Amino acid sequence: MARIGVLALQGAFLEHIQALRRLGAETREVRLPAHLAGLDGLIIPGGESTTIGKLAVAYDLMDPLRDFGQTHAIWGTCAGAIFLSRDARRHQPLLRLMDITVERNAFGSQVNSFEIDLDVPALHMVDPEGKPYHAIFIRAPLIESVAGKAEVLASLPDGQIVAAREGRLLATSFHPELTRDDRFHQLFMEMAKSD
Ligand code: GLN
Repeated sequence: MARIGVLALQGAFLEHIQALRRLGAETREVRLPAHLAGLDGLIIPGGESTTIGKLAVAYDLMDPLRDFGQTHAIWGTCAGAIFLSRDARRHQPLLRLMDITVERNAFGSQVNSFEIDLDVPALHMVDPEGKPYHAIFIRAPLIESVAGKAEVLASLPDGQIVAAREGRLLATSFHPELTRDDRFHQLFMEMAKSD
């Protein structure tokens, strides 16, 4: 079974831990560099990307997280996706591990939060039936563009990108940990295990 850590500096880390436990993964809250040892993968939760970044700097986690991401799976949800990105068009600490550019709070004040069914072909790997994925967006970022080896996994009906993958790195604008649909967690566990 995969050993998956969840960055527990701020935000919705407990919900990720619960989803991972439902799937039988070994989990650990990560607050210090030493907590990364022995993990197969790491989830960076939603919350507030500026706060997560500042705390990661304060706890000397930036370089250890970058090193971990060179050889291990990392999945960022919402604020976590922003933190993983190469560019968020603002001055804030970023890991810059994934070749994606994001736009924070891209949906404006009137549609701060919404839910929508998405077609996510990448989930067929863990669910051959391929039923639609019900995604929850909360003050979500958009993935403005993907570059290099990064590829699009899901888009809104108007074509705006909301999930991307680059090798073992995964970014979703939405919050799979707030649903009982664990297919994204399953997909990530597969990514963390594969060599
Ligand atoms: N708006 C937050 C940010 O820019 C992200 C919101 C979330 O993670 N639900 O960091």
